[in-house]
Amino acid sequence: MASLSSGVSSREINMDQAQVSQPCALCGAMRKLEQSHIVPQFVYRWAQPMSGMHDFPNAQPRAMLCGNCEDRFSVFESEFARRVFHPFTAKSILSAKYLAWLRKFAASVCWRIIEEGVATNTLGDGSARWTPELSSCRETWRHYLMGQRPDVGAHHLHLLPWPGSDLKEGRVGPALDAVLRLPKSIPAKAADPTLHPIERQIFFSDLGSFVYAKLGPLVLLGLITDFSPQHWRGTRLNAEGKLKPRDVSVPDYCRDFLDARVRHNSR
Ligand SMILES: [Zn+2]
Repeated sequence: MASLSSGVSSREINMDQAQVSQPCALCGAMRKLEQSHIVPQFVYRWAQPMSGMHDFPNAQPRAMLCGNCEDRFSVFESEFARRVFHPFTAKSILSAKYLAWLRKFAASVCWRIIEEGVATNTLGDGSARWTPELSSCRETWRHYLMGQRPDVGAHHLHLLPWPGSDLKEGRVGPALDAVLRLPKSIPAKAADPTLHPIERQIFFSDLGSFVYAKLGPLVLLGLITDFSPQHWRGTRLNAEGKLKPRDVSVPDYCRDFLDARVRHNSR
């Protein structure tokens, strides 16, 4: 066989490359890296039968984390999937006491999105103005996820239902619809979380910048820079707390962003 006579087969070369140690993006240890999903796999597993989609754009995993850090993240993901995501997607119930795992989960997703943007050079033109803030955010979340600091400083994480998501125990969805000033004609289609089940983006503007992740009917926002801390209400994740239906409010620049996503998803 040609590959044997030449001494090294292409499979052997690929295996050798896979064995090469690289620095883990989170802890920095030189290890053979695992293939990490940017948006956790359980969201794709939920979205696949719901949406009828087989291939999602940008779903490929990336060599990013060592095994230890993958394990660290999987603990947060399991808690979030079991206590928040599946009850909400199955029964429209958003009611859970949470401990550190919830904010850690949110930070882990938003941090991965930034790491991917840096690694693939896809942060976009708008990022240049906010380079120091982006570096601060990236490092703050990294140290927080490593357990090297107890909080996220000014880089808060927020969780809110996708506009129009129906809730049995209260009416958070319509309250947010009011915040977003949605046109009456589009919410039904826009509210369907299966049409655009998974999205991620880093948004930069003069008024504020954040990481956005849409996980089905739930939205995570991780603040890179924000000048309107007083305008967030009912969405911020703390070290521990309770999720429950409540009126929510977001700053205008964030409302405009969500409004644009809703319009996009209504097409
Ligand atoms: Zn690591």
